[in-house]
Amino acid sequence: MDNLELLIDLHRDGERQGPGGEAETELALQLAGVDRAAPLQLADIGCGTGASTLLLARLLGNARITAVDRLPDFLDVLQARARHLGLADAITPCAASMDNLPFADGELGVIWSEGAIYNIGFARGIAEWRRFLKPDGLLVVSEITWTTAARPADLQRHWQTEYPEIDVASARIALLERHGYAPIGYVVLPQHCWLDHYYRPLQARFDSFLRRHGHSEAAKAIVSAEEHEIRLYEAHNAHFSYGMYVARRVG
Ligand code: SAM
Repeated sequence: MDNLELLIDLHRDGERQGPGGEAETELALQLAGVDRAAPLQLADIGCGTGASTLLLARLLGNARITAVDRLPDFLDVLQARARHLGLADAITPCAASMDNLPFADGELGVIWSEGAIYNIGFARGIAEWRRFLKPDGLLVVSEITWTTAARPADLQRHWQTEYPEIDVASARIALLERHGYAPIGYVVLPQHCWLDHYYRPLQARFDSFLRRHGHSEAAKAIVSAEEHEIRLYEAHNAHFSYGMYVARRVG
């Protein structure tokens, strides 16, 4: 099994593949001022196994949701969960890459993306996705964000290596303005979105994951990298979180 297959195996059984929460998704929806009864076209980009997709399908009774992820394994789980919840009719799974999306210009009323835009970078993502939105369409995207102006050197070094685009919220909001969006709001994910919803359930899967893979060096390396990330979060969460950015396309 290669590294990607191992990562899929570790994360496929998670309710979510990154920090987040239903209350925070709903808060972002409220901030965006989405009409919950409207027949919206919405794309959830980098949807994973559907944490936000399934909630949005539940909250937006008449929306057509395209659930986009590059990994068909995650989309299969999402579809099974949607069927179980009676939401399958509202959701179309779409195996595609976020840098080559199969939408027409102006097709979407809402673009949603939680914990995924970093795969192509925030600046590139918001610039490239804008054309798929209707002229007054809404963008809701969550992204790792510094929550303080200065931070410890080891933390700075870690994220500068992992994701050099990490920045403060004011810089992200300025980027949205420069790329043709009117910022509406910003929600910082609280600690329970990281610990209770993501890291603790992930840690609870480590033992069975290692057993399934005979404690291979590759499996152990994946667990050790996840544990390192969790320790950094536990030590330094005053300085960073995910921010959910809500904006409207202008022009
Ligand atoms: N939104 C989900 C959530 O919050 O639980 C998943 C977040 S997970 C951290 C990032 C997701 O982006 C994964 O499901 C991964 O497969 C997907 N992904 C990574 N690169 C991608 C790409 N180039 N195009 C589409 N999806 C991608």
